[in-house]
Amino acid sequence: MTDEKQYKSGYAAIIGKPNVGKSTVLNSLIGEKVAIVSKKPQTTRNNITGILTREDAQVVFIDTPGIHEPWNLLGKNMVRLANESLNGVDLIIFVLDAKSGLRNEDENIFKIIKGENKPVIILINKVDLVDKLKVLPLIDTISKMGTFKEIIPVSAEKGDNMDVLLKKIIENLPYGPKYFPDDQITDKNERFIVAELIREKVLILSHEEIPHSVAVLVEEFKERTKSLIYIRATVFVEKLSQKKIIVGHKGQMLKKIGEKARKDMQAFFNKRIYLDLWVKVYENWRKDAQALRMLEYK
Ligand code: GDP
Ligand code: MG
Repeated sequence: MTDEKQYKSGYAAIIGKPNVGKSTVLNSLIGEKVAIVSKKPQTTRNNITGILTREDAQVVFIDTPGIHEPWNLLGKNMVRLANESLNGVDLIIFVLDAKSGLRNEDENIFKIIKGENKPVIILINKVDLVDKLKVLPLIDTISKMGTFKEIIPVSAEKGDNMDVLLKKIIENLPYGPKYFPDDQITDKNERFIVAELIREKVLILSHEEIPHSVAVLVEEFKERTKSLIYIRATVFVEKLSQKKIIVGHKGQMLKKIGEKARKDMQAFFNKRIYLDLWVKVYENWRKDAQALRMLEYK
């Protein structure tokens, strides 16, 4: 049992313009455990990208969809939208690129977080690419741009100062319960998207009346390397006749479904996808509460 008075937990949003190293920061913080996947259902709250569980704390890292919009369009509305996407977040981690320095997009994000009454940690990433003497004036400039809990220079790629970052993240989290089981580090949204992409292809390619009797379960979702994701998924149908349609003559239909789904996934994740796709008959799964739960249908 965890003592809730001692235990720290919360949702941390990692924000910043594209290519500053947000994903690298996340991977570095989560470490190899990113590869471990659990089937337990979870609540959806923004896009969970990683869950870090320790003896003393649990950090749920999330991606805030609204915040990565094209910021040259920034207006009051956009700021409001972005602020809404930060609802329910306990801590904001704003990543900057030491090499590119402050840009317009960064300034816009500063405007957004100003509207939030939340602890903010500023990360100056990629310090391995610049002269240390250049980082100090950047820290100085940033410190005048608002009130921040910390401004931490790191190299997510080299792992420099990441231990300090993690310590500061946990320090700035509220006390709270363990939201997710220890072994859960995955994110429903990615799996959900994968499942939906497969289901979509099944529906598009098999013209028969299969729609409502198809469900897709993503059984494994593993980032094998930085650029390759391994996905094992099963298409559940209710009858053998439906399975035959989806598999097709000599497996041609299933192959086509897989190819099309994989293409979309590669575009979505911007990574190579290895898709291991299966079809199984699960009679009356729509009437089976356990099956419904497994397939995460409400
Ligand atoms: P994101 O778009 O913000 O998620 O950025 P990514 O994590 O995908 O990183 C963008 C690029 O920056 C990749 O090529 C990374 O390898 C690189 N990168 C990330 N962190 C560092 C770092 O600390 N040092 C260096 N040199 N490169 C980094
Ligand atoms: Mg990324």
